[in-house]
Amino acid sequence: MAATVTYVPQEQIERFRELQNLPYEIKVQYAMGKAQEFYDALEGKVFCSVGGLDSITLLLFLREHVDPNIRGVSISVLEDKTVRGVHKQLDNMVFLKPYKSKVQVIREHGYPVISKEKAGKIQLLQNPTEKNATVRHAIMTGETGAYGGYRKGTRMKLPKKWLELFAGPENERYGTNYQTAPFRVSPDCCYYMKEKPADDFAKQNGLYPYMGLMASEGGQREKALIKNGCNYYGKTVTRSCPFAIFQRQDILQLALDLEAPVPEIYGEIVRDSDGTLRTTKAQRTGCTMCGFGIHIEPRPHRFDRLRETNYKEWKFWMYDMGWGKVLDYIGVHWENEYEPGPEQPSLFEEAM
Ligand code: SF4
Repeated sequence: MAATVTYVPQEQIERFRELQNLPYEIKVQYAMGKAQEFYDALEGKVFCSVGGLDSITLLLFLREHVDPNIRGVSISVLEDKTVRGVHKQLDNMVFLKPYKSKVQVIREHGYPVISKEKAGKIQLLQNPTEKNATVRHAIMTGETGAYGGYRKGTRMKLPKKWLELFAGPENERYGTNYQTAPFRVSPDCCYYMKEKPADDFAKQNGLYPYMGLMASEGGQREKALIKNGCNYYGKTVTRSCPFAIFQRQDILQLALDLEAPVPEIYGEIVRDSDGTLRTTKAQRTGCTMCGFGIHIEPRPHRFDRLRETNYKEWKFWMYDMGWGKVLDYIGVHWENEYEPGPEQPSLFEEAM
């Protein structure tokens, strides 16, 4: 994966923020309009990509407001067992297989850890070639060189904390004393396990996806959604994200309004005394071995929860597949049993 910088003009960001700040009811109307527009533009040749609670809610939303027969497509096998249970209850679903197993992507490519963007940069540092020398220089220093218009101090630079742990392969070139991790890091999991199988399904069937992505989740996803908008009709990608302008509160409210089945891993949707909605257990889910965002997730973090719900699987990832060593290396506690204190929601912004 090549690390990229998405440039978004300031006015576009401001316009998007205004949409994000609209009242819930208006945002729902807006999402309906966008979803319908996409459906009409593609003459109904669409499907809904289904994973966790957000996209389960999207499927119900589309079936209620756009077309009751919209097909759900999921790579369900990657999800937590309680999410898979909900997928099985939904009708008109297609279940796809990942092209590589979770074990295979870790063995062949590396661990998905920290964030997708940073994992991409670390992967480049760990796999130096002449071709990626300019981008590696930008990752090390923030200077973009001839191809990037000689900009300095750009966000391409990997934060110091991660340079310290991962930039060892560049020590000779920069006279630094960084560490070299004894494992590989990679953001490629999504491509082999989710994107490619879903893309191939879409191409083979001449269909285009709706996705439950929201810019408020942050990271690269936020930039891409602000830049490309809810509906995007590109040369290689055509997709609709009707919830792009939603905040977490909106999706939870909509899940309640649509009486969406909430997989057990999330617990329940509850309203705090100040009116804020939250799920009582996981806030978001992904593959059971996903490490994106783990370093900023308070305990009990996702691996603590996995230990509770599926001890065998937890043991497998932590000890047999080396996840424990990766977490130790980046300073995330996992082996000591988590002692529950006052309940606190886990918030993390840059997973996936
Ligand atoms: S949820 Fe995490 S591990 Fe799974 S495909 Fe997405 S980024 Fe990779």
